[in-house]
Amino acid sequence: MHRAQVVVIGAGMSGLAAANSIAEQGIEVLCLEKARGTGGRLSSKRINLDEHGVLSFDLGASSFYASSERFVSFIEDKCSSMQGMTRRHYVPNVRSSSLTRALAESVRLECGVKVSDIKRRNGRWLTFVEDEHGSPQVFSESLFLVLATPPEQARALIPPSHPYQAALEFVSSQPQWVSVYLVPYSVYEHIGLQVAGPLLNLNCSEIKRLSVESAKPGRTESLCNDEEQEERCVLVKLEAQPEWTNHRLELDKNEIASELWAALLREFGLEGDSNECQFRFQYTHRWLYSLPSGNVLSRSGEVTGSHHQGPHENLCLCGDYLGIREGIDGVEAAYQSGLSLAEAMVEMLTDEPALTM
Ligand SMILES: Cc1cc2nc3c(=O)[nH]c(=O)nc-3n(C[C@H](O)[C@H](O)[C@H](O)COP(=O)(O)OP(=O)(O)OC[C@H]3O[C@@H](n4cnc5c(N)ncnc54)[C@H](O)[C@@H]3O)c2cc1C
Repeated sequence: MHRAQVVVIGAGMSGLAAANSIAEQGIEVLCLEKARGTGGRLSSKRINLDEHGVLSFDLGASSFYASSERFVSFIEDKCSSMQGMTRRHYVPNVRSSSLTRALAESVRLECGVKVSDIKRRNGRWLTFVEDEHGSPQVFSESLFLVLATPPEQARALIPPSHPYQAALEFVSSQPQWVSVYLVPYSVYEHIGLQVAGPLLNLNCSEIKRLSVESAKPGRTESLCNDEEQEERCVLVKLEAQPEWTNHRLELDKNEIASELWAALLREFGLEGDSNECQFRFQYTHRWLYSLPSGNVLSRSGEVTGSHHQGPHENLCLCGDYLGIREGIDGVEAAYQSGLSLAEAMVEMLTDEPALTM
């Protein structure tokens, strides 16, 4: 069994910002992540397609805003700044997950660990994982447990009688389909995409945003080998509208990819031109919890204000939905939430020397 003063579930931006900041104060912290790597909704994907080489793209957030000096100084050397925005707008260099990888460097991290249950016993929090027969096995024991996941995934773990269940009842997340296409340059030109940089907000009823992943800083274009002819290719990512996604949650990934592609052609006046506008490969992913929705701003204040108090038995929450403030959301909100939780926890552990394992 793994032991630490603090166990953090989730190695996305909020969990790693918290874990990194706690570890910097010499407090033992262990971060558990169900995926194979860090990033969560900032994750990047690499796919090896023999004939087309290795494709690399950001599956989650394509870009984000930064307003606080602390966040700006953290990301400045890992991101490229975009022009013409009132708030500072950034696109990650090479891949989005480089941000969470940087935070993870000084953190004890166990990936591929899906926590299936949590229980409080003798003043300690236990996390459980399922073995190959589906039986729960204790994985870690800690004084503090941090749930750094979207609110729905936190609620699935929180004991039914815990006050956070009621506090999180009104916080929810929007789903979002994302499709990434490998498109020959000739098709890309034919479609006539007028993308000055790597991003274009489309805001039609199907597609929220388009990003040209291969045009992002530090990325490379691919080559298609077709009948021994090499052709330059670009990687185009379409983020679906959450409402459109909501009505198609259970559709097959290929259908989603086709529908979104058809919507893109329609948007550019190329309906019925499908023979000339084919992509070579697509990868589609369903984010069930993409961005917080509903009245998060007022509800989250209620939870944040009490996330680390004694009555809640050293169970803490952090995540983008808790960091939302006027002008701050998404990635920056996740970072801020992780940092403010870490500050509160460091204060508590320093004031209470008895709180050791
Ligand atoms: C398609 C898309 C587009 C977006 N666009 C933008 C944008 O333009 N601007 C912006 O600022 N933000 C954007 N976002 C949102 C941004 O990515 C998130 O706000 C931010 O990354 C959230 O970080 P987090 O740490 O709160 O949560 P997450 O990144 O979701 O991290 C939670 C982690 O917990 C892990 N986990 C969950 N349950 C368990 C378990 N039981 N056991 C172990 N691990 C578990 C998950 O695997 C995940 O890694 C976008 C997100 C998506 C998906």
